[in-house]
Amino acid sequence: MGELKKIVVLGGGESGVGAAVLAKNKGFEVFLSDNGEIAEEYQIVLSNNDIEWEQKQHSESKIVMASEVIKSPGIPDETPLIQMLLERNIPVLSEIEFAGRFSDAFMICVTGSNGKTTTAMLIYHILKKAGFNVGLAGNVGKSLAYQVAKESYDHYVVELSSFQLDGMNEFKADIAVLLNITPDHLDRYGGEFQRYVDSKFRIIQNQTNRDHFIYWLDDPVISDEISKREIKAKSLPFSDRGKVDEGAWIVNEQLIINLNNNKLTMSIHDLALQGKHNGQNSMASGIAARVLEIRKEIIRESLSDFQNVEHRLEFVARVHGIEFINDSKATNVNSTWYALESMSKPVVWIVGGVDKGNDYQMLQELVVSKVKAIVCLGKDNSKIIKAFSGKIDHILEAQSAMDAVGLSYQLATKGEIVLLSPACASFDLFDDYEDRGNKFKRAVKSL
Ligand code: ADP
Repeated sequence: MGELKKIVVLGGGESGVGAAVLAKNKGFEVFLSDNGEIAEEYQIVLSNNDIEWEQKQHSESKIVMASEVIKSPGIPDETPLIQMLLERNIPVLSEIEFAGRFSDAFMICVTGSNGKTTTAMLIYHILKKAGFNVGLAGNVGKSLAYQVAKESYDHYVVELSSFQLDGMNEFKADIAVLLNITPDHLDRYGGEFQRYVDSKFRIIQNQTNRDHFIYWLDDPVISDEISKREIKAKSLPFSDRGKVDEGAWIVNEQLIINLNNNKLTMSIHDLALQGKHNGQNSMASGIAARVLEIRKEIIRESLSDFQNVEHRLEFVARVHGIEFINDSKATNVNSTWYALESMSKPVVWIVGGVDKGNDYQMLQELVVSKVKAIVCLGKDNSKIIKAFSGKIDHILEAQSAMDAVGLSYQLATKGEIVLLSPACASFDLFDDYEDRGNKFKRAVKSL
């Protein structure tokens, strides 16, 4: 026996703690380090699993002893510590890459700039209904590594952000779903969009002709990129512009999935998730289910009884005929575009927060046609005010969810909608998007 392999995990959140538990479980020597504070629930998991850990610091002397380092997705590659490890040729990988080594389960992986959580949960819902022994890993629930350590699923639906994809080398998706690519997180990619695109395309690396690649055909970035690459997996695109050979499309308000000359058709009005973007998510999920040969009735039923995910175009309440919708998870302009696009009544739009380099130009047309008033909910709202003044009569500012809801309630009348779809991150006034959504909902319920 050689020396015991040493695994160092950087970051003590869900993915880091999961990776540490798995590494320990596989008999490695493990050390977890977080330069912030580790939540109490994770401290307990680490201690219960006899894992050595530290918080509020990085002890470099211990970290450099690693045979391999597993890095949480929140830590940028540019961090001096990571740079130092790379200079020393110590491999740095993601939790998913590590987990993949210890699992021979069938992996259905979902990425994209928007819609990952919704689509991953929708696929999971279909597979559960079809009786699969399936785990869901990603933004919701337990990390993949933790589940590989503690469960024995034979299928996984895995939501992958670009940061998780970055640390993946050998991992293979049996089914890869790429929903869309629009500029996001460019701060982490040195402002270079192509680097972000390359990161997203890692989802198909290592795929063979026995695997499947499901993607949105109408996305100009994806189609351009595909024309430059050799795709080994079987391609199954989906489109809302018209028929494809094999894959899915929407025409005359019918959603059609075609695989091996076997068609499934359903009305888009029967889909649980409404709106153009959700039609895309439903098509992607339906194709994945057909690849797994799930019966058509089960797919139809699952696509129509899925319960929407919290904070994503979530109906909150109707107060004196005014509908309140919580789309707090819309943290970029693209997701807000789809929210506004799906509104069929006049909207009082609550927008703002931490701007990640937003270009509001792409919202102009929709805002002018659908929005009657804007309530800005951010510390610095100047960019939003500048973008829409002169086009929208009422632009007001609020510094809390309570004030934003109060102002919106005054501005809206019966038959109209108050939509929180901020197009921005939440960290100026809230802990995170969930805190923002929850405070919004509480304020609505107290009206
Ligand atoms: P992600 O996990 O990629 O952040 P979510 O499913 O949490 O995606 O949804 C984030 C936001 O994007 C929500 O506001 C949601 O309504 C919107 N959205 C969902 N699916 C799509 C899509 N296919 N295209 C654009 N926006 C979407």
